[in-house]
Amino acid sequence: MLKVIQNRIEQGCKTSNYPLEPINLYHRYRGLPVIDSECSLDIVQRCADICPQDAIQVEAKTIDLGKCTFCGQCEVEGEGAFARFSEDFGLGAANRGDLITQGTLPDLAAHSKQEFKKLFGRSLQLRQVSAAGCNSCEADTNVLNTPFFDLSRFGIDFVASPRHADGIHVTGPISKNMRQALLDTYDAVPSPKIVIASGCCSISGGPFYGSDEIIGDLNSLIPVDLYIPGCPPHPLTTLHALLKFFKQG
Ligand code: SF4
Ligand code: SF4
Repeated sequence: MLKVIQNRIEQGCKTSNYPLEPINLYHRYRGLPVIDSECSLDIVQRCADICPQDAIQVEAKTIDLGKCTFCGQCEVEGEGAFARFSEDFGLGAANRGDLITQGTLPDLAAHSKQEFKKLFGRSLQLRQVSAAGCNSCEADTNVLNTPFFDLSRFGIDFVASPRHADGIHVTGPISKNMRQALLDTYDAVPSPKIVIASGCCSISGGPFYGSDEIIGDLNSLIPVDLYIPGCPPHPLTTLHALLKFFKQG
């Protein structure tokens, strides 16, 4: 026992001080794209042609973050002339249309519902539903429970039963086989409830878009309140979105 206490003292506190202090991200992290609206249409077209997600709209010079996997191919193809990926991890949005961007996103805190902040600002219990995810979204959601992020210090927890939850956090492209289980879980959550679409799979189908075996767009099944883009979303992106949406503003 003494050794355990000694070890804890030697280790010190490993929990980050975010959001009071910034977190340094790995230099290859790709966050919100910086888009040059002056870029020639030829270059944008080349970027669109190489995009595996069909996420680039050429005439509008936009990227759909609900489809984008942040693979970085458009940055390489256009040598950064059209899009460069910044370290801005604040990617959450309350409206699907806001994810189609020229490089800016609305302030999430200003676009969330006051009702949600009042109800869930101090305590938010979520049921995770993996609707045929590849397990990366799920794994990076789990990371939020490690001592570094320590999600529960914000009053946010993932719970085992939808009956104990305030909402669902959905990952994966929603295979047809998972459709009913997802709907049953949603129905089991008492109202009022919130729905979070996490990762491009649950927003648009992600890398599986076009497959006959998936639903793809979660919002076509149940109303989505919060979108968290990424493939998978960085834990910091998820944490940032949850804090902005439920606690700030
Ligand atoms: S980073 Fe996004 S927009 Fe660019 S090529 Fe990859 S999927 Fe397409
Ligand atoms: S969004 Fe990407 S990481 Fe998440 S489940 Fe889909 S393929 Fe996997």
